[in-house]
Amino acid sequence: MLKSEFWGDETEAVNLALDWAIAHTVSGSDPKTSFKSSEELKKEVGVSITSDGLGAKEAMRLYSEVLNPATRSADDPMALAFIPGAPTRAAVAFDAVVSAANVHGGMWEMGAGAVFAENQVLGWIKSLLGWTEEAGGTFVSGGTLGNLSALSAAKHTIKEKWRQMGRFQNGRPITGYKLACASTAHSSVRTIATVLDVDIVTIPVDAGGHLTGEMLEKALVENPTIFAVVATSGTTNTGIVDDINSIVTVAHKYDIWVHIDGAYGGAALAAPSVRHFFKGIEKADSFIVDPHKWLFAPYDCCAVLYRDQKHAIHTFSQHAEYLDAFGNEEVNPSDLAIHLSRRTRGLPLWYSLAIHGTKKYEQAIEKSIENSRKCAEYIRKSSHLELLLDPELSVVVFARKGWTPEQYDEWSNKLAKAGELLCLPSKLNGRTILRLAFINPHTDVDKVIHILETTMK
Ligand SMILES: *Cc1c(COP(=O)(O)O)cnc(C)c1O
Repeated sequence: MLKSEFWGDETEAVNLALDWAIAHTVSGSDPKTSFKSSEELKKEVGVSITSDGLGAKEAMRLYSEVLNPATRSADDPMALAFIPGAPTRAAVAFDAVVSAANVHGGMWEMGAGAVFAENQVLGWIKSLLGWTEEAGGTFVSGGTLGNLSALSAAKHTIKEKWRQMGRFQNGRPITGYKLACASTAHSSVRTIATVLDVDIVTIPVDAGGHLTGEMLEKALVENPTIFAVVATSGTTNTGIVDDINSIVTVAHKYDIWVHIDGAYGGAALAAPSVRHFFKGIEKADSFIVDPHKWLFAPYDCCAVLYRDQKHAIHTFSQHAEYLDAFGNEEVNPSDLAIHLSRRTRGLPLWYSLAIHGTKKYEQAIEKSIENSRKCAEYIRKSSHLELLLDPELSVVVFARKGWTPEQYDEWSNKLAKAGELLCLPSKLNGRTILRLAFINPHTDVDKVIHILETTMK
């Protein structure tokens, strides 16, 4: 197979790539690597796409010596900026299996066994949500695509529902649909509003940073064409969980859709110590969680689920003569989001979860919550630092008393360059702050505290 009449002998190309993959799966990524400018890369790489090809040795050399080192490690235990990743070695390894198997995961007909396994993972998430048999979902590339799919289904479903209810605007079909979310919602929600051609209604949050049903109701009275509200279960900047229970109650009184963006924090549904923050989620209409964030899977992976999957099927089913030939009873992943051909990207999570079991996952998530509490406790008691919010999940936001934005940058860059700690400045209510997002069970919180104690005084 490695020697083809057409491509020639690919033995070396295969061996070099797979050897690198094995070595890297074992070692994990190097925290000292960082991005470079395209100018620098142009100098080091030159032209890599040529009419006669570079050959395997040179192409792999470019990747391992130049290109990969010009990326930033997202899964180092001391990478606490953005929302990092922390894939298990088993999940990373299985991603190579998914590639090798090269299954078309869009249709049951093509991907049955693989999709079945993905659905068992979704079944676990469904049980955490308290959803029943009617619920279903699929895996898409990331939270942005997951949110877009859920909100597209929301718009289609609510439009149809209002039409059936005979809800009109001055005797005409309703136009000017609006999407409600808090000022703290993820930036992708605004992009999605642009794509769906709907206006955003931004709702103020309470003093603790939560969107509440009370504030939603005010917005609904003023904006009768709001078709959906996005509540965030774990905001990216501060890890706050909106008041889902009151939001769902108000939203359903007004016949609108509730989407829960749990891209980062949805994983904490599995953690008993914070489970109470998610009260009411069993009544939400759709939900996403990114396993590439806090469920220990590699990039890229987002689970999007609907409490009643038929709404998604009505929205997304693609009909074409060559597709309809497969007349079977199974639900196709392509019927549940905006995609047709797809990689079975839920499988690395399936493999890792099947190996370790859900209890281990619970413990791994709790570990990061404990770490964030310990770190917050240190900051609260220290004289030079200020804790800005009690962490609800695992993001700690704080300030160094008296520092200017330049001092934050300098401090952050120095630690990043040394590969000691990745902690980047952010903003809270216009003020420069620091945030630490704990999601890796291997993060040594005492080491983090030691750094804060010795480098910030
Ligand atoms: C990360 C994040 C997203 C976007 O997810 P991607 O996978 O990066 O597209 C959306 N919402 C929240 C709350 C997030 O933390």
